[in-house]
Amino acid sequence: MPELPEVETVRRGLDRHLVGRRIERVEVGRERVVRRTSREALIVGLTGTTVLAADRRGKYLLLPLDTGESMMIHLRMSGQVLIAERTRPRPSHTHVVLHLDDGFEAWFVDPRTFGEVVVYDPDRVDSELPEIARLGIDPIADSFTRADLRAIVRSTRQALKPLLLDQHRIAGIGNIYGDEILHRARLRPDRPANTLDARATARLHESIVEVLVAAIEAGGSTLSDAQYVDLMGVEGSYQDDHRVYARGGERCETCGRGWIRRTVTGGRGTHFCPVCQR
Ligand SMILES: [Zn+2]
Repeated sequence: MPELPEVETVRRGLDRHLVGRRIERVEVGRERVVRRTSREALIVGLTGTTVLAADRRGKYLLLPLDTGESMMIHLRMSGQVLIAERTRPRPSHTHVVLHLDDGFEAWFVDPRTFGEVVVYDPDRVDSELPEIARLGIDPIADSFTRADLRAIVRSTRQALKPLLLDQHRIAGIGNIYGDEILHRARLRPDRPANTLDARATARLHESIVEVLVAAIEAGGSTLSDAQYVDLMGVEGSYQDDHRVYARGGERCETCGRGWIRRTVTGGRGTHFCPVCQR
């Protein structure tokens, strides 16, 4: 499932290939990806508009249009945004096609159709897209300080892993990067947040920023399902740098002594080294 680094990689591609382009025509296949409004609302909202910018909040792509409205794209589990020449055959599960004024097309492809494409009024985001209005701090886009993290960890006894994944507090971290961040910070995923002292909090802050920035530089992580790719269809390479995620039973490369343990909480796998994470 795409997390902040993958969505940021897609955002940078959109900044290059979609911003400044006029959308001449819109096709909507599977109506499930426009379930929040309707096929007609997406076609009317996008046809003839020019994309002004490519922004991101957490895992949400937000694209302001020259009409004053914005387009929101959420990749959710398996969504992809691809840019291709008009003559190229479309992959199966292409649910939305934007015909651009430069002869290219933007495709929203999503085999599992949990993803969404929506046009909304940014002035009414509270009622139209309430989950965006409730998003917490973005650890890359905003000025995310050590003091911000200190306030978050002091406020709760919640375990660190679910705390990092709580989009209302810090937006954009999911299961993969949650595990990798805690490993590099040498903190156990089940450790209560309010037991962190100032030094451990500083380590966690540094690890959040470093892991996310390194993953963005690597173009994100493409797992064996190969569903995540950038706008040109290119896979990311940060999976080669994963030290714990999906490595249960392997020797820990960081300390060379522990064995990576996999536990399941809330139906999701958590991976950590019991020796170097405390
Ligand atoms: Zn270790």
